Amino acid sequence: VWAKVPLGPRDAILGVTEAFKADKSPKKINLGVGAYRDDKGKPYVLPSVKKAEEQLAKAGHDKEYLPITGLPEFVNAAIKLAYGEDSKPLKEGRIAATQSISGTGALRIGLAFMARFFPQKEIYLPDKTWANHAAIVKDCGLEVKHYKYYDPETVGVAWEGFKADVKAAPNGSAFLLHAAAFNPLGTDLTKEQWVELCEIFKEKNHFAFFDMAYQGFASGVFEDDAFPVRHFVEQGFPIALCQSFAKNMGLYGERVGAFSLVCADKEEKARVDSQLKILIRPMYSNPPVHGARLAAQILNSPELYKDWKLEVKGMADRIISMREALYDLLQNKYNTPGDWSHVKRQIGMFSYTGLKPEQVDALATHAHIYLTRDGRISMAALNSSNIEYFAENVSKAVKG
Ligand code: PMP
Repeated sequence: VWAKVPLGPRDAILGVTEAFKADKSPKKINLGVGAYRDDKGKPYVLPSVKKAEEQLAKAGHDKEYLPITGLPEFVNAAIKLAYGEDSKPLKEGRIAATQSISGTGALRIGLAFMARFFPQKEIYLPDKTWANHAAIVKDCGLEVKHYKYYDPETVGVAWEGFKADVKAAPNGSAFLLHAAAFNPLGTDLTKEQWVELCEIFKEKNHFAFFDMAYQGFASGVFEDDAFPVRHFVEQGFPIALCQSFAKNMGLYGERVGAFSLVCADKEEKARVDSQLKILIRPMYSNPPVHGARLAAQILNSPELYKDWKLEVKGMADRIISMREALYDLLQNKYNTPGDWSHVKRQIGMFSYTGLKPEQVDALATHAHIYLTRDGRISMAALNSSNIEYFAENVSKAVKG
């Protein structure tokens, strides 16, 4: 029956991991994967998560199904973290929200909802973005449009081009916006730019669809990273929001996330909630319970929350220190041709190095260093033992 099924291309990021695993060199480094590592290069289970695990084990929960939209004490705490306790729509009980299978699942629910109910059947994505965005948009039956975001000259944001594209789009268009720690570029808008963007959105009556997969990872402070979301909401926008707890709680494989929509009033929220249930029920019926309980335990316990906040700051700070060290090595110690200050300026888990595909290939062949061919590296994979080796070899690859 499947004789005509064509062989599909390999996933770019998973392909990097496969090549890394096959390499037997003790020097090898995998910079492809977007998962935090500690300074010894090991996966990190947050101490707050370990404590929450112990507390849950003592409480002895059963394994019954959750409701279709998930664990209420998790969902409520998740949206409070994103929108802020003082958020008007939160206080007025007009945010429709559901638990999701991490950030990917939130995008899937949100974009499927857009395909059913948003007046336009297309959504604008940044011209460089997480590869799965376009795949999900298409699988939901929407058309992918692009807006300018990447400036190859500065390896930063093409702000003028971005604004021009937002202005040129038909009124009432939907835009997917990375709330913080833009993947892959590691370059966000400044607060002033977000405020300006919001004003253009008002003039154009555009719709903001936020993907916030890294709250806390950019600045180390939840409130600061949520600024764009909170600002648009304060300005009266009915935004959509995808949240993930993969990175900021290190709950990657537990698949903990949330999707929410700000509604005009409670009556609208009730209608939207009913449609979210209709959408989710035939997709996966109801979400997994364990990870949501862990996240709820942390978010709702003042003590664990305090610990978690410090742990997130610790992860963000370690990444920032790696950025500074890498810049210093590339620019000053190894005199690598070009300006490497973007490495220091960028934020979040990734750095978009600007390395060319041939240079990436040379790193794999000559130095056992693996990254995606677009030159993106996970800063979290660098540590005090491998950063010097990495910088030396990047320098060699650039010098050719
Ligand atoms: N959005 C962006 C921009 C991401 O980088 C990621 C993770 N790589 C996600 C969403 C979703 O990740 P997850 O499904 O693991 O939460």
